[in-house]
Amino acid sequence: MTVGTLFVVATPIGNLGDISRRAVETLGKVEVIAAEDTRVTKRLLGHLGLATHCLALHDHNEREVVPRLIERMGRGESVALVSDAGTPLISDPGFLLINAAYENAIPVVAVPGPSALSAALSIAGMPVDRFAFEGFLPAKPGERKRRLEGLAAESRTLVFYESSHRIMAMLEDLDLVLGPQRQIALAHELTKVHESVERGTAKQVLAWLREDLNRTKGEFVAVVAGAPTVSHDARQSDAVLSVLLEFLPTNQAVAAAGRLTGEKRNALYQRALELQKHQTDS
Ligand code: SAM
Repeated sequence: MTVGTLFVVATPIGNLGDISRRAVETLGKVEVIAAEDTRVTKRLLGHLGLATHCLALHDHNEREVVPRLIERMGRGESVALVSDAGTPLISDPGFLLINAAYENAIPVVAVPGPSALSAALSIAGMPVDRFAFEGFLPAKPGERKRRLEGLAAESRTLVFYESSHRIMAMLEDLDLVLGPQRQIALAHELTKVHESVERGTAKQVLAWLREDLNRTKGEFVAVVAGAPTVSHDARQSDAVLSVLLEFLPTNQAVAAAGRLTGEKRNALYQRALELQKHQTDS
């Protein structure tokens, strides 16, 4: 008997128009949808005009539900795994199911689509050729600070998810532990009616939130610049950039510095912004 397939299907993070045609086809053809919260998924299915059977799969029941789903796929049925929003497994449940599918030689197929992670990175305006996704920081203040201390020297761009309850405390800790100079792009309510991206230091972003406490409601992704790596070469590039910035617009100064130093444009551009900001602050 041929086994079924486990489809891992991304769903919108706000704007329902972001669902892919392939996701709709897949949700319509599988025998069962394993959903983080069946009420949320049924609303989406209603919008799509689908009535596929849904079954709850979350952190508290996966040990008992996973064997049942594996047994069904072993009999030839196909299953779609979805979360409440975005891409399953990205700070969402499903790991046990996927692992069990591989162990039982059941094909696992991604139906990619929206994720708050890639959406925020794509518009943060920071170098994202290398980044470290940290998901949610610990809720307890002491643990959160310790986690951030461990990341203070990380030179890759950092990405955090955060909810409305802790966004202020998180930004206060970013300022305290990573220092007042770190640039942050705070992506808020992406793809929804009141979506925004606020860029600046933690203090500046905090001030923006405090201006209107309605801004603290909703969902957030914080993209945080990595720690500056000040090598001998970087100091030379800084010197070259500083001189060029005195005479040329930023883009031209960055392009010329790239030709002279061989450094990447993205990194030089970020450095140019920091140097300019430093000059205005001092
Ligand atoms: N799997 C999802 C994904 O692919 O983005 C993430 C699930 S995680 C439980 C939920 C968190 O994702 C929220 O607390 C928030 O940090 C982030 N998030 C989800 N939707 C968002 C949106 N529309 N705008 C900003 N952040 C969002």
